[in-house]
Amino acid sequence: MKTAILIIFALFLLPVQQEKEYAKQREAMVKKQIESRGIKDSATLAAMRKVPRHLFVPNDQMVHAYEDRPLPIGLGQTISQPYIVAYMTEVIKPKPNFRVLEIGSGSGYQAAVLSEIVKEVYTIEIVETLGREASARLGKLNYKNIQTKTADGYHGWKEKAPFDAIMVTAAAEYIPPPLIEQLKDGGKMIIPVGTPFMTQQLMLVEKTGNKTRTTSLIPVRFVPFKRN
Ligand code: SAH
Repeated sequence: MKTAILIIFALFLLPVQQEKEYAKQREAMVKKQIESRGIKDSATLAAMRKVPRHLFVPNDQMVHAYEDRPLPIGLGQTISQPYIVAYMTEVIKPKPNFRVLEIGSGSGYQAAVLSEIVKEVYTIEIVETLGREASARLGKLNYKNIQTKTADGYHGWKEKAPFDAIMVTAAAEYIPPPLIEQLKDGGKMIIPVGTPFMTQQLMLVEKTGNKTRTTSLIPVRFVPFKRN
């Protein structure tokens, strides 16, 4: 009897302990990888502290979820390094009233981070299985302000445009013109541009009227932007 009670107690406690351990790792990730490298935006930091990154990676990657690197999420795709997620989030200067479009849902992690800060997130994934999984995961985790769609993100999401910000998380060879069109006046887009499998440049595109200003930020390495 005593043993049975102990076993039930342990089974109940184990997941709680595990969550505590992940929370500790997440706090260390924010301090060591993100704050110490100069990310200051308080909303971005709070979102990085909150979103349970370990629930966005495959089971066999969970123990690595808070490490300082990208991780495989299946089908040859990756979830970006935590610092890059934070960097891209801070750069678009997200505000609570924003509507943001993301191209490349992948695991859904970046969308979740954005959804903690802004009013509405729209995210598009080209690989059907990944899109379906991301959508199910975000639903299960109760993210209510994210809409998902499986399509070629090159064309953006016309019915929901214009957007305050657009974030592309796959490396394009050039900036897709439909995405610039779907950006609001005063809007910002962040996109890695360059040759697939080589180092690319993270570019910031700022739109004012019918003019755009493009600034090259940091070298990055993303999976390729695919076309249907
Ligand atoms: N933001 C993701 C990681 C992105 S990895 C996360 O937080 O986990 C890049 C993703 O972009 C991959 O899942 C890839 O399938 C997707 N992708 C590549 N080209 C695309 C396109 N044209 N439209 C939409 N998604 C695309």
